Amino acid sequence: MKISIIIPTFDRCKLLQRTLPTILAQKLKGGEFEILVVSDGCTDGTFSWLKELNEASFLRVFEQPNRGPGAARNYAAHEATGDVLLFLDDDLVCLPNLAQQHLTAHQKFPHSVVSGLVRLADEGTGNVVHWHFEDIHRKYLLRMVGKTTPQWPYDAVFYANSSVPRADFLACGGYDEGFGLALEDVELGVRFWKAGLHFHLLQDAVTEHIHVKSANAIARIDGEAYGRSEYRLVNKHKGLRPLAEITRLSSGPFHVQWVRHTALALLPLSDLCLMFLTAVTEMARARGMAVQMLRYRHALWRLHGAIKAAGNSTTLQQVLGQRLPVLLYHHVGPLLPGAFAALTVTPEDFTEHMEWLHLHGFIPVRPEDWERWVNGEGVLPKNPILITFDDAYSDLAEFVFPILEARKWPATVFVVTDEIGGSNSWDQAKGCARISCLNAAQIQDWAQRGILFGAHSRSHADLVTIGTEQIHHEVKGSKTSLMQTLSMSFSAVANCFAYPYGSWSENVRDVVAKDFKMAFTTKAGVNDCSTPLLELKRAMVIRSHTLWSLRKLLAVGWDAPLITTAARKIWAGMRRLFVDAPL
Ligand SMILES: [Zn+2]
Repeated sequence: MKISIIIPTFDRCKLLQRTLPTILAQKLKGGEFEILVVSDGCTDGTFSWLKELNEASFLRVFEQPNRGPGAARNYAAHEATGDVLLFLDDDLVCLPNLAQQHLTAHQKFPHSVVSGLVRLADEGTGNVVHWHFEDIHRKYLLRMVGKTTPQWPYDAVFYANSSVPRADFLACGGYDEGFGLALEDVELGVRFWKAGLHFHLLQDAVTEHIHVKSANAIARIDGEAYGRSEYRLVNKHKGLRPLAEITRLSSGPFHVQWVRHTALALLPLSDLCLMFLTAVTEMARARGMAVQMLRYRHALWRLHGAIKAAGNSTTLQQVLGQRLPVLLYHHVGPLLPGAFAALTVTPEDFTEHMEWLHLHGFIPVRPEDWERWVNGEGVLPKNPILITFDDAYSDLAEFVFPILEARKWPATVFVVTDEIGGSNSWDQAKGCARISCLNAAQIQDWAQRGILFGAHSRSHADLVTIGTEQIHHEVKGSKTSLMQTLSMSFSAVANCFAYPYGSWSENVRDVVAKDFKMAFTTKAGVNDCSTPLLELKRAMVIRSHTLWSLRKLLAVGWDAPLITTAARKIWAGMRRLFVDAPL
């Protein structure tokens, strides 16, 4: 078996003069390896230096116009004669047995992606760039060291110091050259994973990374490149959208988005301020703050790059930044003596709420519209909203459905299926007055008139307090019963479940996942692309809520005091925009 070591390089001749000798010194016999270096349009004399090297015949040198590292690696892969391709970078120092370790692993694990570790070279100067790389490497090693079982999607990456059989590389089509300077390795890893290749991590196949980038390059060049590439990545592999950093940077409440847009609109000024703050904190040796300032800059440029890739911020928001408030009503109708007052909203208030939503441009959607959008299909209106009702009280037919029907608005009602035509027996046991539930004829009638019905268990049992078999009985049983009531395939109704009392655990969720695509909690908040479909948040509307409360429910998901809400959300937004943004 022969291994071909591939190194793309661009204008880093001095660095290559340090790293290439460690690669040339690999302990393998002449016929067992070759080294292919591709000068990617270098202008600093790299190519002529390489040509003059006149090393052993296993060093092969190529030149191409500057087309990015992915294109350079593809070029070399086509020229390679090895059975296995090992991809390194021009800033990696290797130990003499690195190629041998990869080769041995491939002999043991055919059709596999084999990756070694990349550690930070111990030659830091104690500046902000070095601190920044130290943080990145520390997080990376925490995740990788000692790991044996790869996990989707975090381990589906094909960073430098990774190797793969040449035939598998070519079968997958190599690197996507449209990615330019960033994430081409992550994208190829995703395709390897989808093609069914196994991933192996070699804990002792270590290379050392010498960083030579400036703070400006990290913030501006890398930031913009990552933004552009991440937008391309999540459009190509839609399942990655909830995990993408740019998804988090694109969503958030209105005021957080306003802060971001203002910073972007004044980009040169914001950049200058952050550059100044980085320098000041670096000089003051305030390591944490200096690294944060650098990340702030990177996040701004990353967002800028994503907006450029999307064409404009509206498109980016439509593709990644949609938010979905979900209103949760219980009983809408006259307050019955002895009923839980908070959970009854008067018909007048409900009518006023719908009017307010209409006036403020909210467009009710179906749960499946959200699911399709999260999965990268379909488009949502600018201000989507989901209106839901738990417990399926019969007053809905009189006071709610006609209003929704007149507006042609969809809404989803969650039915306690043992109580179809019955009443709220689960609440009566706690002293609540009897409230009757919709009967089968009403459900059938309104299902044909545009109201969606989902399941809310059979008996309104608290699912976290019962055994797995009983959970299954409650969940699957309610689905079957609802299908029978509606006399139609379940795909024609809302394929979703609402946890009774909003109470769920991982076990409950996993049982629900077998029968439903979506499930609603009562956790307060507004959903975005990263909210799991089986843990959707809702804003509960209660009797004391005013229109001002409704406004807050739609903005942040709960009726918090204004100052607390604003301060908490602005802080959370700032953290999401800057502090938590990994590179
Ligand atoms: Zn309920």
